[in-house]
Amino acid sequence: MPNGQAKLAGVMGWPIGHSLSPRLHGYWLDRYGINGAYVPLAVPADAFDGAFRALPLLGFAGVNVTIPYKEAALAAVDDADETARRIGAANTISVLPDGSLYGQNTDAFGFITNLKNGLPDWRPTEGPAVVIGAGGAARAVCVALLDAGVPEIRLANRTVRRADSLARDIGGPFAVTPWSKLAAAMEGACLLVNTTGLGMTGEPPLEVDLRHLAPEAVVTDIVYSPLETPLLAAARARGNRTVDGLGMLLHQGRPGFARWFGVEPDVTPALREFVLAGLAPAGR
Ligand code: NAP
Repeated sequence: MPNGQAKLAGVMGWPIGHSLSPRLHGYWLDRYGINGAYVPLAVPADAFDGAFRALPLLGFAGVNVTIPYKEAALAAVDDADETARRIGAANTISVLPDGSLYGQNTDAFGFITNLKNGLPDWRPTEGPAVVIGAGGAARAVCVALLDAGVPEIRLANRTVRRADSLARDIGGPFAVTPWSKLAAAMEGACLLVNTTGLGMTGEPPLEVDLRHLAPEAVVTDIVYSPLETPLLAAARARGNRTVDGLGMLLHQGRPGFARWFGVEPDVTPALREFVLAGLAPAGR
Protein backbone atom coordinates (compact mmCIF):
# COMPACT_ATOMS: atom_id res chain seq x y z
CA MET A 1 0.00 0.00 0.00
CA PRO A 2 1.29 3.49 -0.79
CA ASN A 3 2.01 5.64 2.28
CA GLY A 4 2.45 9.40 2.76
CA GLN A 5 5.75 9.39 0.88
CA ALA A 6 4.33 7.64 -2.16
CA LYS A 7 5.31 8.88 -5.61
CA LEU A 8 2.25 9.88 -7.60
CA ALA A 9 1.36 9.49 -11.26
CA GLY A 10 -1.79 8.91 -13.27
CA VAL A 11 -3.59 9.16 -16.57
CA MET A 12 -5.53 12.26 -17.55
CA GLY A 13 -8.33 12.07 -20.12
CA TRP A 14 -12.06 12.37 -20.71
CA PRO A 15 -13.67 9.92 -20.37
CA ILE A 16 -11.12 7.80 -18.54
CA GLY A 17 -13.09 4.85 -17.16
CA HIS A 18 -12.07 2.56 -20.05
CA SER A 19 -8.33 3.19 -19.64
CA LEU A 20 -6.12 0.16 -18.98
CA SER A 21 -3.20 2.32 -17.87
CA PRO A 22 -4.04 2.18 -14.13
CA ARG A 23 -4.05 -1.61 -14.40
CA LEU A 24 -0.76 -1.61 -16.31
CA HIS A 25 1.11 0.72 -13.96
CA GLY A 26 -0.57 -0.81 -10.89
CA TYR A 27 0.80 -4.20 -11.90
CA TRP A 28 4.33 -2.80 -12.20
CA LEU A 29 4.10 -0.89 -8.89
CA ASP A 30 3.11 -4.12 -7.18
CA ARG A 31 5.67 -6.27 -8.98
CA TYR A 32 8.57 -3.97 -8.13
CA GLY A 33 7.34 -3.21 -4.58
CA ILE A 34 7.32 0.55 -5.21
CA ASN A 35 5.82 3.04 -2.78
CA GLY A 36 3.71 4.74 -5.41
CA ALA A 37 0.23 5.21 -6.85
CA TYR A 38 -1.09 5.60 -10.40
CA VAL A 39 -4.62 6.97 -10.60
CA PRO A 40 -7.23 7.74 -13.28
CA LEU A 41 -7.79 11.50 -13.62
CA ALA A 42 -11.14 12.24 -15.30
CA VAL A 43 -10.82 15.86 -16.40
CA PRO A 44 -13.51 17.59 -18.49
CA ALA A 45 -12.39 19.96 -21.25
CA ASP A 46 -13.02 23.19 -19.38
CA ALA A 47 -10.84 21.97 -16.49
CA PHE A 48 -7.91 20.63 -18.51
CA ASP A 49 -5.59 23.66 -18.36
CA GLY A 50 -6.06 24.15 -14.61
CA ALA A 51 -5.72 20.46 -13.78
CA PHE A 52 -2.65 20.04 -15.97
CA ARG A 53 -0.83 23.06 -14.52
CA ALA A 54 -1.71 21.89 -10.99
CA LEU A 55 0.26 18.64 -11.31
CA PRO A 56 3.49 20.04 -9.77
CA LEU A 57 1.52 21.71 -6.94
CA LEU A 58 -0.15 18.39 -6.14
CA GLY A 59 3.19 16.61 -5.98
CA PHE A 60 2.75 14.44 -9.08
CA ALA A 61 5.88 12.97 -10.63
CA GLY A 62 4.04 12.95 -13.95
CA VAL A 63 1.07 11.68 -15.90
CA ASN A 64 0.05 9.98 -19.07
CA VAL A 65 -2.33 11.97 -21.21
CA THR A 66 -4.90 10.28 -23.40
CA ILE A 67 -7.84 11.15 -25.66
CA PRO A 68 -8.71 13.99 -26.17
CA TYR A 69 -5.78 15.87 -24.64
CA LYS A 70 -2.58 14.68 -26.31
CA GLU A 71 -2.31 17.75 -28.58
CA ALA A 72 -3.35 20.14 -25.81
CA ALA A 73 -0.72 18.60 -23.53
CA LEU A 74 2.02 19.33 -26.05
CA ALA A 75 0.85 22.94 -26.27
CA ALA A 76 0.76 23.26 -22.47
CA VAL A 77 4.16 21.80 -21.52
CA ASP A 78 7.21 23.97 -20.87
CA ASP A 79 9.43 21.76 -23.02
CA ALA A 80 9.09 18.59 -25.10
CA ASP A 81 11.28 16.06 -26.85
CA GLU A 82 11.78 16.06 -30.59
CA THR A 83 9.56 13.00 -31.17
CA ALA A 84 6.59 14.65 -29.46
CA ARG A 85 7.10 17.79 -31.53
CA ARG A 86 7.26 15.84 -34.78
CA ILE A 87 4.12 13.86 -33.89
CA GLY A 88 2.39 17.01 -32.65
CA ALA A 89 1.18 15.42 -29.42
CA ALA A 90 2.47 14.37 -25.99
CA ASN A 91 1.24 11.35 -24.02
CA THR A 92 3.84 11.20 -21.25
CA ILE A 93 4.41 14.22 -19.01
CA SER A 94 7.04 14.50 -16.30
CA VAL A 95 7.35 17.12 -13.59
CA LEU A 96 10.98 18.25 -13.52
CA PRO A 97 12.75 19.24 -10.27
CA ASP A 98 12.14 22.95 -10.98
CA GLY A 99 8.38 22.30 -11.28
CA SER A 100 8.29 22.65 -15.05
CA LEU A 101 6.42 20.14 -17.26
CA TYR A 102 8.28 18.06 -19.85
CA GLY A 103 6.38 16.24 -22.62
CA GLN A 104 7.27 13.09 -24.50
CA ASN A 105 5.41 10.93 -26.97
CA THR A 106 5.99 7.25 -26.30
CA ASP A 107 3.35 5.89 -28.70
CA ALA A 108 5.95 5.68 -31.48
CA PHE A 109 8.29 3.73 -29.20
CA GLY A 110 5.41 1.49 -28.12
CA PHE A 111 4.36 0.75 -31.67
CA ILE A 112 7.79 -0.10 -33.05
CA THR A 113 8.90 -2.05 -29.98
CA ASN A 114 5.75 -4.16 -30.16
CA LEU A 115 6.32 -4.88 -33.84
CA LYS A 116 10.00 -5.73 -33.41
CA ASN A 117 9.35 -7.92 -30.36
CA GLY A 118 6.42 -9.62 -32.04
CA LEU A 119 8.41 -10.46 -35.18
CA PRO A 120 12.14 -10.16 -34.49
CA ASP A 121 13.01 -10.97 -38.12
CA TRP A 122 10.85 -8.15 -39.55
CA ARG A 123 13.09 -5.78 -41.55
CA PRO A 124 11.69 -2.25 -41.80
CA THR A 125 14.02 -1.33 -44.67
CA GLU A 126 12.83 -4.14 -46.92
CA GLY A 127 9.94 -2.32 -48.56
CA PRO A 128 7.00 0.10 -48.40
CA ALA A 129 4.46 0.16 -45.59
CA VAL A 130 0.75 0.83 -46.10
CA VAL A 131 -0.72 2.84 -43.22
CA ILE A 132 -4.50 3.16 -42.96
CA GLY A 133 -5.74 6.20 -41.04
CA ALA A 134 -4.33 9.66 -40.45
CA GLY A 135 -5.45 10.53 -36.91
CA GLY A 136 -3.30 11.12 -33.86
CA ALA A 137 -2.15 7.52 -33.54
CA ALA A 138 -1.21 7.40 -37.25
CA ARG A 139 1.19 10.29 -36.68
CA ALA A 140 3.04 8.33 -34.02
CA VAL A 141 3.05 5.18 -36.18
CA CYS A 142 4.42 7.06 -39.21
CA VAL A 143 7.20 8.73 -37.21
CA ALA A 144 8.12 5.32 -35.77
CA LEU A 145 8.21 3.69 -39.21
CA LEU A 146 10.28 6.47 -40.78
CA ASP A 147 12.76 6.42 -37.88
CA ALA A 148 13.03 2.63 -38.27
CA GLY A 149 14.03 3.12 -41.92
CA VAL A 150 10.86 2.23 -43.84
CA PRO A 151 11.59 3.52 -47.36
CA GLU A 152 8.03 4.60 -48.27
CA ILE A 153 4.70 5.06 -46.49
CA ARG A 154 1.57 4.66 -48.58
CA LEU A 155 -0.96 6.55 -46.50
CA ALA A 156 -4.70 6.06 -46.99
CA ASN A 157 -7.36 7.88 -45.01
CA ARG A 158 -11.10 8.30 -45.48
CA THR A 159 -10.55 12.07 -45.36
CA VAL A 160 -7.72 12.68 -47.83
CA ARG A 161 -7.09 16.21 -46.57
CA ARG A 162 -6.08 14.81 -43.20
CA ALA A 163 -3.60 12.42 -44.82
CA ASP A 164 -2.15 15.32 -46.82
CA SER A 165 -1.69 17.31 -43.60
CA LEU A 166 0.01 14.41 -41.86
CA ALA A 167 2.43 13.89 -44.76
CA ARG A 168 3.20 17.61 -44.94
CA ASP A 169 3.65 18.06 -41.19
CA ILE A 170 5.91 15.05 -40.67
CA GLY A 171 7.67 15.13 -44.04
CA GLY A 172 9.41 12.21 -45.73
CA PRO A 173 8.68 9.55 -48.33
CA PHE A 174 4.88 9.59 -48.13
CA ALA A 175 2.58 8.60 -50.99
CA VAL A 176 -0.92 9.75 -50.06
CA THR A 177 -3.28 7.16 -51.53
CA PRO A 178 -7.01 7.59 -52.12
CA TRP A 179 -9.18 5.19 -50.14
CA SER A 180 -10.45 3.77 -53.45
CA LYS A 181 -6.88 2.77 -54.39
CA LEU A 182 -6.08 1.11 -51.08
CA ALA A 183 -6.19 -2.46 -52.40
CA ALA A 184 -3.81 -1.67 -55.26
CA ALA A 185 -1.46 0.19 -52.89
CA MET A 186 -0.74 -3.11 -51.13
CA GLU A 187 1.14 -4.42 -54.15
CA GLY A 188 4.78 -4.84 -53.12
CA ALA A 189 4.21 -3.64 -49.55
CA CYS A 190 6.03 -5.39 -46.70
CA LEU A 191 3.82 -4.08 -43.92
CA LEU A 192 0.16 -3.13 -43.49
CA VAL A 193 -0.92 -1.15 -40.42
CA ASN A 194 -4.43 -0.19 -39.33
CA THR A 195 -4.43 2.93 -37.18
CA THR A 196 -8.17 3.69 -37.43
CA GLY A 197 -10.63 2.68 -34.74
CA LEU A 198 -12.40 0.37 -37.20
CA GLY A 199 -12.48 -3.22 -36.02
CA MET A 200 -12.72 -2.25 -32.38
CA THR A 201 -15.52 -3.87 -30.38
CA GLY A 202 -18.67 -1.89 -31.11
CA GLU A 203 -17.26 -0.37 -34.32
CA PRO A 204 -17.69 -1.65 -37.87
CA PRO A 205 -14.85 -3.82 -39.18
CA LEU A 206 -12.19 -2.39 -41.46
CA GLU A 207 -13.19 -3.79 -44.83
CA VAL A 208 -10.12 -3.99 -47.04
CA ASP A 209 -9.28 -6.20 -49.97
CA LEU A 210 -6.03 -8.01 -49.16
CA ARG A 211 -5.78 -9.70 -52.57
CA HIS A 212 -2.72 -7.69 -53.64
CA LEU A 213 -0.83 -8.12 -50.38
CA ALA A 214 2.14 -10.46 -50.64
CA PRO A 215 1.94 -13.52 -48.36
CA GLU A 216 5.26 -12.49 -46.77
CA ALA A 217 3.91 -9.08 -45.73
CA VAL A 218 3.30 -8.43 -42.05
CA VAL A 219 -0.06 -7.07 -40.86
CA THR A 220 -0.53 -5.21 -37.59
CA ASP A 221 -3.42 -3.39 -35.97
CA ILE A 222 -3.18 -0.88 -33.16
CA VAL A 223 -6.72 -1.74 -32.05
CA TYR A 224 -6.38 -4.34 -29.26
CA SER A 225 -9.99 -4.89 -28.28
CA PRO A 226 -10.66 -7.51 -29.58
CA LEU A 227 -7.11 -8.79 -29.59
CA GLU A 228 -7.60 -10.36 -32.99
CA THR A 229 -9.46 -7.78 -35.05
CA PRO A 230 -11.31 -8.81 -38.23
CA LEU A 231 -8.36 -7.41 -40.21
CA LEU A 232 -5.84 -9.58 -38.34
CA ALA A 233 -8.11 -12.61 -38.64
CA ALA A 234 -8.44 -12.12 -42.41
CA ALA A 235 -4.68 -11.63 -42.78
CA ARG A 236 -3.89 -14.71 -40.69
CA ALA A 237 -6.38 -16.79 -42.68
CA ARG A 238 -4.51 -16.04 -45.90
CA GLY A 239 -1.12 -16.79 -44.37
CA ASN A 240 0.20 -13.34 -43.45
CA ARG A 241 2.02 -12.99 -40.16
CA THR A 242 0.27 -10.67 -37.73
CA VAL A 243 1.02 -8.64 -34.60
CA ASP A 244 -1.79 -7.44 -32.33
CA GLY A 245 -1.98 -3.97 -30.78
CA LEU A 246 -1.87 -4.76 -27.06
CA GLY A 247 1.93 -4.66 -26.91
CA MET A 248 1.89 -1.07 -28.18
CA LEU A 249 -0.10 -0.06 -25.11
CA LEU A 250 2.18 -2.02 -22.79
CA HIS A 251 5.46 -0.72 -24.24
CA GLN A 252 4.33 2.93 -24.49
CA GLY A 253 3.93 2.87 -20.71
CA ARG A 254 7.53 1.90 -20.00
CA PRO A 255 9.37 5.25 -20.40
CA GLY A 256 6.94 7.12 -18.13
CA PHE A 257 7.05 4.48 -15.42
CA ALA A 258 10.87 4.51 -15.51
CA ARG A 259 11.01 8.31 -15.18
CA TRP A 260 8.39 8.63 -12.44
CA PHE A 261 9.15 5.58 -10.32
CA GLY A 262 12.83 4.96 -11.09
CA VAL A 263 12.57 1.34 -12.31
CA GLU A 264 12.74 0.11 -15.92
CA PRO A 265 9.67 -2.14 -16.11
CA ASP A 266 9.41 -5.35 -18.12
CA VAL A 267 6.69 -6.40 -20.53
CA THR A 268 6.10 -10.09 -19.81
CA PRO A 269 3.47 -12.67 -20.77
CA ALA A 270 2.10 -12.43 -17.21
CA LEU A 271 1.65 -8.65 -17.56
CA ARG A 272 -0.09 -9.15 -20.88
CA GLU A 273 -2.52 -11.64 -19.35
CA PHE A 274 -3.17 -9.36 -16.39
CA VAL A 275 -3.94 -6.32 -18.56
CA LEU A 276 -6.05 -8.43 -20.93
CA ALA A 277 -8.17 -9.57 -18.01
CA GLY A 278 -9.09 -5.89 -17.54
CA LEU A 279 -10.79 -5.74 -20.93
CA ALA A 280 -14.55 -6.22 -20.89
CA PRO A 281 -15.26 -9.87 -21.87
CA ALA A 282 -16.90 -8.75 -25.14
CA GLY A 283 -13.69 -6.96 -26.06
CA ARG A 284 -11.37 -9.90 -25.61
P1 NAP B 1 -8.37 9.80 -34.17
O1 NAP B 1 -7.31 10.83 -34.10
O2 NAP B 1 -9.76 10.15 -33.83
O3 NAP B 1 -8.35 9.19 -35.68
C1 NAP B 1 -9.30 8.24 -36.08
C2 NAP B 1 -8.91 7.68 -37.45
O4 NAP B 1 -9.87 6.66 -37.79
C3 NAP B 1 -8.95 8.69 -38.59
O5 NAP B 1 -7.99 8.35 -39.55
C4 NAP B 1 -10.37 8.50 -39.13
O6 NAP B 1 -10.53 8.91 -40.47
C5 NAP B 1 -10.49 7.01 -39.04
N1 NAP B 1 -11.89 6.57 -39.06
C6 NAP B 1 -12.78 6.67 -38.05
N2 NAP B 1 -13.96 6.17 -38.43
C7 NAP B 1 -13.81 5.74 -39.71
C8 NAP B 1 -14.68 5.12 -40.66
N3 NAP B 1 -15.94 4.84 -40.36
N4 NAP B 1 -14.17 4.80 -41.89
C9 NAP B 1 -12.89 5.08 -42.19
N5 NAP B 1 -12.01 5.67 -41.32
C10 NAP B 1 -12.48 5.99 -40.11
O7 NAP B 1 -8.02 8.54 -33.24
P2 NAP B 1 -6.56 8.01 -32.82
O8 NAP B 1 -6.13 8.67 -31.57
O9 NAP B 1 -5.67 8.10 -34.01
O10 NAP B 1 -6.87 6.48 -32.44
C11 NAP B 1 -7.27 5.55 -33.42
C12 NAP B 1 -7.38 4.17 -32.80
O11 NAP B 1 -6.12 3.72 -32.33
C13 NAP B 1 -8.33 4.10 -31.59
O12 NAP B 1 -9.09 2.92 -31.69
C14 NAP B 1 -7.39 4.01 -30.41
O13 NAP B 1 -7.96 3.31 -29.31
C15 NAP B 1 -6.24 3.22 -31.01
N6 NAP B 1 -4.96 3.45 -30.31
C16 NAP B 1 -4.29 2.36 -29.83
C17 NAP B 1 -3.09 2.55 -29.17
C18 NAP B 1 -2.36 1.37 -28.59
O14 NAP B 1 -1.55 1.57 -27.68
N7 NAP B 1 -2.54 0.16 -29.12
C19 NAP B 1 -2.55 3.85 -29.03
C20 NAP B 1 -3.25 4.93 -29.55
C21 NAP B 1 -4.47 4.72 -30.20
P3 NAP B 1 -11.04 10.42 -40.81
O15 NAP B 1 -9.81 11.29 -40.70
O16 NAP B 1 -11.56 10.30 -42.19
O17 NAP B 1 -12.09 10.77 -39.80
